[in-house]
Amino acid sequence: MWPLDGSSQTCHSRPMIKRQTTINRIFKVTGIGLHTGREVNLEFLPRREFGIAFVHNGNLIPARYDMVADTRLSTLIASGGSSVSTIEHLMAAFYFSGITNCLVYIDGPEVPILDGSAWEFYQGMWKAGVYEFPESGVYLRVQRTVEVSHNDSWVRMKPLNTLDITMTIEFRQPVGKQKKRVTDVENAFSIINSRTFTLEEEIEAIKKAGLAKGGSLDNAVVIGADDVINPQGLRYKKELVNHKILDLIGDLYTSGYRILGKVEANKTGHHLNNLFLRELFSDPANYAIY
Ligand SMILES: [Zn+2]
Repeated sequence: MWPLDGSSQTCHSRPMIKRQTTINRIFKVTGIGLHTGREVNLEFLPRREFGIAFVHNGNLIPARYDMVADTRLSTLIASGGSSVSTIEHLMAAFYFSGITNCLVYIDGPEVPILDGSAWEFYQGMWKAGVYEFPESGVYLRVQRTVEVSHNDSWVRMKPLNTLDITMTIEFRQPVGKQKKRVTDVENAFSIINSRTFTLEEEIEAIKKAGLAKGGSLDNAVVIGADDVINPQGLRYKKELVNHKILDLIGDLYTSGYRILGKVEANKTGHHLNNLFLRELFSDPANYAIY
């Protein structure tokens, strides 16, 4: 087992996951959906088949990039008339837990926001434990540079034997421009509990559109005119850019694989992250799986 300590970047390392894995026992998570404001129940079941998939209204929806149907507010997957939104933090928790196969039964259209990070999902997986199967084929290594861009936003990945992410974000002050590089992503525990964030002035427009009904200072960092509004402040000095890395990791895990490569991402979001995967898989010469 690897430690839960969220305070360290590098000092706790665990062996790389080499084979397919699932959770060792069933567990449940309940919480409020950010946009619907409704309670949602998740039940996690071990799965023999490769991959993470949701079950909603009896429909199986693989948590895969080619099932992504909307990326405007979060990453939403859809199949057979059912959809599940805001899967990205949960997908990042699966990545950090080393889980490759799992079924997630969900009784609502949106994964609960919890504290705005991947922390509670990760804890649930850690407590459930990992069961290893004999099959490999869980890694995807980028074999040549793959890049997508839109205006001044881009995601680029170059060949490397580890996952190394450099993320740059830019918002109005007091956030400004923030850059962070994580060289050992599999053990970057400060990413897991970094929370989602929003600018104070955007909240009214979002609520007017009937969204973010479940949003509060308990599940998002809110940036005011001069400072963070949340009384407890930030969990990390670079919590905001950390969270963008969390979103990217969750989105990259909809590849179905643990991706290896050197990533440079500038002002990216769910849409560009999904386009990146579509570009990656558009040519089998771009990658190797092992
Ligand atoms: Zn997020």
